[in-house]
Amino acid sequence: MIGAGVAGLTTAVCLAESGMKVRVDADLAPGETTSAAAGAMWDPYLAEPRDLVERWARTTLSELTALSSDKDTGIRMVEGTQESRTPCPLPAWGSAVGARQCTPEELRHGFVTGWRYRAPVVDMPRYLGYLARRFAQAGGSFRRHRYETVAEAMREAPVVVNCSGSGARALAGDPEVEAVRGQLVVVENPGIESFFCDDTPGADELTYVYPHSETVVLGGTSDRDDWDVTPDDRAADQIVHRCVAVEPSLAGARILEHRVGLRPVRKRVRLTEERHKDALLVHNYGHGGAGVTLSWGCAQEVVERVQGSRVTN
Ligand SMILES: Cc1cc2nc3c(=O)[nH]c(=O)nc-3n(C[C@H](O)[C@H](O)[C@H](O)COP(=O)(O)OP(=O)(O)OC[C@H]3O[C@@H](n4cnc5c(N)ncnc54)[C@H](O)[C@@H]3O)c2cc1C
Repeated sequence: MIGAGVAGLTTAVCLAESGMKVRVDADLAPGETTSAAAGAMWDPYLAEPRDLVERWARTTLSELTALSSDKDTGIRMVEGTQESRTPCPLPAWGSAVGARQCTPEELRHGFVTGWRYRAPVVDMPRYLGYLARRFAQAGGSFRRHRYETVAEAMREAPVVVNCSGSGARALAGDPEVEAVRGQLVVVENPGIESFFCDDTPGADELTYVYPHSETVVLGGTSDRDDWDVTPDDRAADQIVHRCVAVEPSLAGARILEHRVGLRPVRKRVRLTEERHKDALLVHNYGHGGAGVTLSWGCAQEVVERVQGSRVTN
């Protein structure tokens, strides 16, 4: 396995729990990945193709919902609204979460339509810790290592699963992988219980408020082809300003952390396999802004492909 983000760890858990001997190799440990920087909500954002994304997202929704009953996972089911400043239809995935249209009284100032639903909100650093522990309990191991090519990894094991996120651009020589930089701000929770997300079609900026128990994640940015992972002070100020405008109780909330990650955006998620004589290479990357949302659906498909290939490990 290459990669210790949410795609790599979830896939590693599924493979190890199906009885395979699995080692995760990655140059960044789970807490240092883009996955650790994510908000994160179940939301199929910036990922294609639509039919597969919908299927993988539904599978993941069931898994995350089930895991939310265990506090140690960092997952909570939270109710809230996604609202738009212009009229727009219910998103295709709305039925999966039982979304219903907001009444005019429920909408925030300046918004004309919206959807209320309950969905998993994931405290990513905690959740990745949970996945890493579950992987270790299933007999998995981790090695910090940077590969220059996928071929190099294929000399180490008969089955390699490539979950390298935006790193796949260099590692797999895949120019279709783009980084879409995302920044967010973590503040102390002043008592917010419900999530909010501005879903205005074509909006220049992202605005979202995801409450965890002690903290609130404020987002965000979406900068194409920007590989800089240093937090930008001005972007952070603007994020806070936009979030306070929709959630005034956030004014003055103590800032705890700035996070930046690189969404691995691709025209379509790459979940494909390649046979190389007696070896198997499965790619599982390019999940864009929905890596958490698609994680279990994609991981289970990788297991099916590995089992179907009859290559042993
Ligand atoms: C600000 C922000 C908010 C987000 N919010 C959400 C959200 O609310 N919901 C949601 O579903 N998604 C969200 N996302 C998207 C989500 O974070 C990504 O889709 C997901 O993290 C991608 O996971 P990954 O495991 O593929 O990649 P990563 O987390 O980037 O992990 C890649 C792994 O591969 C390893 N690797 C790469 N190249 C090499 C190499 N050459 N050799 C060895 N190891 C290598 C890295 O070290 C790392 O361990 C958000 C993203 C950002 C930035």
